[in-house]
Amino acid sequence: MAVLNGRVLLLNFSYEPLGTVGVARAMCLVLRGVVFVEEFDGERVLRSPSAEFRVPSVVRLRAYVNVRRKRQAAGMKRLRIYVRDRFQCQYCGKKKSAHELTLDHITPRARDGRSTPENLATACVACNSRKGSRTPAEARMPLLTTQRALSVGLDRVMLCHYAESRPQWRKYLFVGETSEDEQRASA
Ligand SMILES: [Zn+2]
Repeated sequence: MAVLNGRVLLLNFSYEPLGTVGVARAMCLVLRGVVFVEEFDGERVLRSPSAEFRVPSVVRLRAYVNVRRKRQAAGMKRLRIYVRDRFQCQYCGKKKSAHELTLDHITPRARDGRSTPENLATACVACNSRKGSRTPAEARMPLLTTQRALSVGLDRVMLCHYAESRPQWRKYLFVGETSEDEQRASA
């Protein structure tokens, strides 16, 4: 059913964006009374033999969920880094799909390179194996990205990604957020 395609923006009770869920999952949350519908997706409707439901575009949890810790543990990091790097190998510049990409430790693990987003770059399989456990300088494989781009918080990366994919979500995405430059200035 084509109407089940697409994503729905999921907000915490506090309006903090949590991510996206599929239309089917969002409808289940609505029917189970877990979320409020903040916004419908135009006139799209989902029909069952006995009823008709408007398809949501934005839903909000009825109760506040403390997700920060869960989300970090949830293995979403890999995908978020691919999104940050725009699904582009940061050595040869080729764009690939997620299953053809890997995460490269810029400073290799063997040299105590940590698995933090700042030390992880999207790399195609060929570049990753060519680089091996060398630094970019040793391998003569300069990074296309910058330290500044690598340091952008992954939450912010995802917000920008959502804002680009659905203009109607934009107004929910940057509410109450101080810019990173402001944070840096006050740190
Ligand atoms: Zn590559």
